[in-house]
Amino acid sequence: MAETVASGTYIPLQELAKHATLGNYPAPDAPNYAEILRCTHCGLCLDHCPTYRVLDIESDSPRGRIYQMRAVAEGRYEVNADFKEHMNVCLACRACETACPANVGFGQLVEAARWQAVASLPMSRRERLLRWLILRQLFPHPWRLRLAGSLLRLYQRLGLQSLVRRTGLLRLLSPTLAQIESLSPQFSNFFTPARDQFFLARGKARGTVSLFSGCIMPLAYSSTNQATLRVLQRNGFHVLLPAGQICCGAIHIHAGEHPTAQEMARRNIDAFLREETDAIIVNAAGCGVALKEYGELLANDAVYAQRAREFSAKVRDVSEFLVDKGFLPPRGEVRRRVTYQDPCHLAHGQKVRSQPRAILRAIPGIQLVEMRDPDRCCGSAGIYNVVHPDLSRQILNEKLDNVKATGAEMVVSANPGCILQIEAGCRNANLDIQVAHVADLLDQAYRAEKHVPPDP
Ligand code: SF4
Ligand code: SF4
Repeated sequence: MAETVASGTYIPLQELAKHATLGNYPAPDAPNYAEILRCTHCGLCLDHCPTYRVLDIESDSPRGRIYQMRAVAEGRYEVNADFKEHMNVCLACRACETACPANVGFGQLVEAARWQAVASLPMSRRERLLRWLILRQLFPHPWRLRLAGSLLRLYQRLGLQSLVRRTGLLRLLSPTLAQIESLSPQFSNFFTPARDQFFLARGKARGTVSLFSGCIMPLAYSSTNQATLRVLQRNGFHVLLPAGQICCGAIHIHAGEHPTAQEMARRNIDAFLREETDAIIVNAAGCGVALKEYGELLANDAVYAQRAREFSAKVRDVSEFLVDKGFLPPRGEVRRRVTYQDPCHLAHGQKVRSQPRAILRAIPGIQLVEMRDPDRCCGSAGIYNVVHPDLSRQILNEKLDNVKATGAEMVVSANPGCILQIEAGCRNANLDIQVAHVADLLDQAYRAEKHVPPDP
């Protein structure tokens, strides 16, 4: 029987934090009530919230969503279709966390709220099928992802993609499939470890790190994973690419698929803690947050809670790690006017903002021009651009306007979701603007050094 906490009842915060189920929440792992109570309703987050800015509805603002979560916890409301909709329209971008003077950890609250809806509300047959297929049958299985990637690569190489895009055929058959197709990047060679692989540092070794390769990155952006590997080696680190690693589970957490995400976290912990290394490096911001929060995801797991905390404590974004260790300033030139797009899960989720910029500024030839609101979401947000295409497009258009105003010829980011979204936006708007990862440019600069005369 769920326990109800009446509004206004005084309960010490440390007591409240122990409650797994509260009020009308139907499942364990409810949004943390102590965290909910930190919200003072000041409203300072509202103008930073992309969904509130577009929809102008209090229930689709951070404060409004927290209010709904609190009402359920206090037995005055329930997890119903409306509740689910307002939680799902949220991008989970965490811009509200940065804006909040009370440090409300909104990201984990909304993820827990979504899980409550998934655990208790009926779903349409279509939603059930999509969840089963994508979240449970595809992403947790690397070989199935590789197979899907191979089929997409064949589809592109046979010229079917350009035919489909020219004719608009898919849009007539299924707008959702057409939306997914319009976002698909170019698939080239894959970068997936079938067994443990170990790469030696270049020059004097400074340590050993493990590299988290991700699920989409090794298929769609394998060159970025290779660039990340090379910059780590160039900076004196041996790199271990552990076999057995799988998708981090971030999209599952965002979609409220907590049990699947927890199982995936356990498999990654086993894969990475087999060997002792100095750090676990990740080059995808969305994965970085999920990996850094395995400790919270498995907090109630009697076997894995401690190992999850150990694992999370070792996770570093590649730019965070390189700046912290003191990276080698590259001497090769990359002549580009670029602008940097802060991935939400790097800027708001991990508070990593200055490090990617420090790397870009250290590259000779790079002219870094800041865009307006660089840390405002681009509308990608996991599969948000597929399930909420219209809202995502409106948010993306504002981003593209800000990019265009800088006159940059390249957008640099640090997350495959943002790169994919901005690439698709530029392609659809016929903008001649390239998109790249910070590691791509640093690697390019190191590789250009062979054309630079050695220091006297
Ligand atoms: S996470 Fe982003 S979209 Fe969701 S409430 Fe916060 S600012 Fe708004
Ligand atoms: S800024 Fe923080 S305390 Fe203020 S309304 Fe938003 S979430 Fe609540």
